[in-house]
Amino acid sequence: MNIFAHQSLGQRLLFGTGRASEHLAAEVARMQAKRVMVIAGSFELPMAQEVAKSIEVALWHTDVVMHVPVETANAAREAAEDSQIDLIVCIGGGSTTGLAKAVALTTGLPIVAIPTTYAGSEATNVWGLTEESIKRTGVDEVVLPRTVIYDAELTMSLPLELSVASGLNGIAHCVDSLWGPRADPINQVFAEEGIRSLSKGLRLISDHTQSVPGREEALLGAYLSAVSFASAGSGLHHKLCHVLGGTFDLPHAQTHATVLPYVAAFNLPKAPQAAERMARAFGSDDALQGLLDLRRILEAPKALSDYGFTESGIDRAVELTLTAVPANNPRQANTENLTALLRAALRGDDPKTLLELED
Ligand code: NAD
Repeated sequence: MNIFAHQSLGQRLLFGTGRASEHLAAEVARMQAKRVMVIAGSFELPMAQEVAKSIEVALWHTDVVMHVPVETANAAREAAEDSQIDLIVCIGGGSTTGLAKAVALTTGLPIVAIPTTYAGSEATNVWGLTEESIKRTGVDEVVLPRTVIYDAELTMSLPLELSVASGLNGIAHCVDSLWGPRADPINQVFAEEGIRSLSKGLRLISDHTQSVPGREEALLGAYLSAVSFASAGSGLHHKLCHVLGGTFDLPHAQTHATVLPYVAAFNLPKAPQAAERMARAFGSDDALQGLLDLRRILEAPKALSDYGFTESGIDRAVELTLTAVPANNPRQANTENLTALLRAALRGDDPKTLLELED
């Protein structure tokens, strides 16, 4: 019997290559905003200035730091209050969106998010803040951007390596949603379609980084991935990557991209329905093989050792992850099998070795 409760998040979405500036002006007018704060990292600033050329900006804020340190958040909150801001516009990757969410969390200000990576934060109600090296996350409707504006032109400058890592971060949202704590037949449809779009988009981008259809497909996939993830919640993959990012300071997208095939190999033998959806989305007879084939084409990140993780961190990472693994994870996680998973990911071993794990 299928019994579930599904919550959809209310958000407006405007999609159009080359239309970000026009769409932003229309949204600012529709929301009757008079005092707009634009948040964009210094790298994204020229792009943001171009997008915001047709609106009046009361405050530019460029102090963006990955994982949103609480000091950075407080400075942005104060700046917004001092300037009597009534709308935040964020233009950038997940770090930029994360800062806008931190401001919204305490001020209640609405956000218009204009993403430039495939991280997907723009379509979730999840916020994250880092204090004394500990990253806390939470869920609050107030941080969900009111409107998302997708424009593939803004992603053209994303180098291939970062596009691949970020896109695989999106695929990880989808895969983890297939067995997340609130996985249901609705968010699983989004997850499956998200894998299909991201996988198609990334293939096109790896052939030609300036491919408009590739970039559009990847953005659409990023949105679907985030909607499925926000709805299904964090599964084993996100719990593990949260520990690796928060406690060991590993880079976000690359960590997700590296760990995904290992979590997939760990769970798939115990999750036949997820395996069926994944295989279908990859256009493969086998879910794990479909993911591995895509990763080979994309020359995806392979080993956590390439990002500074070492054998000495495994015990602590396993200990922290074990306290957070959802009870409904398809395979019962324990110290032994999580250690095997992390050791394989550290070295970049063939993920298929985990298919042999015993319970
Ligand atoms: P990021 O925002 O830190 O960007 C990575 C790098 O790419 C930065 O150097 C940035 O300047 C650069 N960049 C961004 N857009 C670019 C472009 N178009 N061209 C060239 N360079 C560009 O990384 P990210 O992976 O987008 O986001 C990671 C952060 O987002 C993490 O803190 C993660 O926890 C958070 N996140 C949150 C959620 C959520 O639901 N709350 C979801 C996903 C990610």
